[in-house]
Amino acid sequence: MSITIGIDLGTTNSAVAWHDGVSVEIIETSSGKTLLPSVVSIDDKDRIVVGHQAQKQIRRHMRPEYVFTNIKSHIGMPFIEGEDYGLQITNVEGERWFRGPNDLDYSPVELSAEILKTLKASAERRLGKEVTQAVIAVPAYFNNIRVEKTREAGKLAGFRKVIIRTEPELAAMAYGLDKEKMSRIAVYDLGGGTFDFVLLRAGDRRLEYLAKLGDDQLGGYLYDRAIQKWLVDAYRQDEQREISKIGLLRLAPAIEDAKKELTDFDSAEIAQVGVFFDSDLGDTLDVNYTIAREKFETLVESFTRQTVEITKRALQMANKTVRDVDEVLLVGGMTRVPSVRKAVASLFGEAKLRDRENPDLVVAKGAAIAAAIEDGRSPGRTSYNHVTAQPFGLIGKHDTVHMLVPAGTPYGQKSKVSIFHLGTAEDGQTVIPIAIVQGDSRSARECTVLARYDHKVPAGPARSEKVDIEVMVDEEGQLIVAGVDCRTGQTLRILEP
Ligand code: AMP
Repeated sequence: MSITIGIDLGTTNSAVAWHDGVSVEIIETSSGKTLLPSVVSIDDKDRIVVGHQAQKQIRRHMRPEYVFTNIKSHIGMPFIEGEDYGLQITNVEGERWFRGPNDLDYSPVELSAEILKTLKASAERRLGKEVTQAVIAVPAYFNNIRVEKTREAGKLAGFRKVIIRTEPELAAMAYGLDKEKMSRIAVYDLGGGTFDFVLLRAGDRRLEYLAKLGDDQLGGYLYDRAIQKWLVDAYRQDEQREISKIGLLRLAPAIEDAKKELTDFDSAEIAQVGVFFDSDLGDTLDVNYTIAREKFETLVESFTRQTVEITKRALQMANKTVRDVDEVLLVGGMTRVPSVRKAVASLFGEAKLRDRENPDLVVAKGAAIAAAIEDGRSPGRTSYNHVTAQPFGLIGKHDTVHMLVPAGTPYGQKSKVSIFHLGTAEDGQTVIPIAIVQGDSRSARECTVLARYDHKVPAGPARSEKVDIEVMVDEEGQLIVAGVDCRTGQTLRILEP
């Protein structure tokens, strides 16, 4: 019999849960905690360390440059020259990797696999048997490459089968909404690194997506970074010197702690001794600042506003208004921030907000429920109608994107096949370049390239050669693109899962 566990692989924290057929248990880490920090470090003996131990390395001032955080925000993301990703990120064949000691670089996939291995080991210790499968949650807004990289990390961690499900739908399952009577549920999910907003019709063992939108580069770390920028500016003004890049790595945990403290208090202290060494002074310097909640709220206001705009856009896409929404689930640790909660409440009304479930653990809990259904430990199956979160397109002239499949297209609908014609644009052209992308922009630069295919044709006058493109989104949300050379009838396998 297969043993499937539920995993929330988060940007900041991860969690693993087990459903025995009756109830859900969040499995504790070896340090006795329910959350495992999504942190991987390389220690002074070049060993890989995961979780709390890895995090401690920063506080102990031990190789902070090799303590890797926010791994999920880099998985499957392209490295764009000229962008500042900080001290640790390096360009490996166009991807973002983490720079380790001894000229060794680590991919986000292998670092994520280390986190997953740790969670798998905790589950096996608790259950006393081998765990072979996992339901792993991903943001609803993740593009296909990022989903596949997450699956790859699961396989690398030793899971024979990885079932990918989206975080908001798992949260809805943890609330048991798929089993109640039909209603319209919004899930507002602001985590450490990503924002998802989905509108679902849930109930009678069915979850139906009405809208799915988000931003996979908008989350708690941006709020932390805003505090960091404020601190750097204040320090520069007061001390006439810069906090070093290593100093910023050392300050990161203190900054995140301060943000959390501001949830419950009007002000928070960011204090750290020996933050960095100043060679002019020949001394290590301390940092000690207090930030008021009001200041924090003005620093981060634009991020919260962005989430509200995405929410409104998603409702519009579904032709719905806030009045059509029965309940709003608050998911992700960032929904504890009072100004974030207030923004959601002023849009939907306080009475509709639901936060009964712990926002840090609700996704893992839902994943465990899905895992139990998968193994047959729990009866009943919830059916879904998944829809695409980001449009698919084809790169045309001047790097503009021609839409192939719009956002909101249901998975697995053969009738939704689109046909496009591509041809030679100039005399003597011997190649028809075909590039398939995914993203919300009309500019190819801002989208993720899923496939490039150069179709060779004999030289001739412009428009003499033509390819028909056929597109379909399969049951798993994977895009399948095939082409037919209109002259020879040759089939081109442009993109296959
Ligand atoms: P998640 O990805 O759901 O684990 O969310 C983690 C994010 O929520 C991180 O950015 C945390 O700093 C943030 N977070 C967790 N608890 C709190 C809190 N009590 N107040 C403010 N932010 C929090």
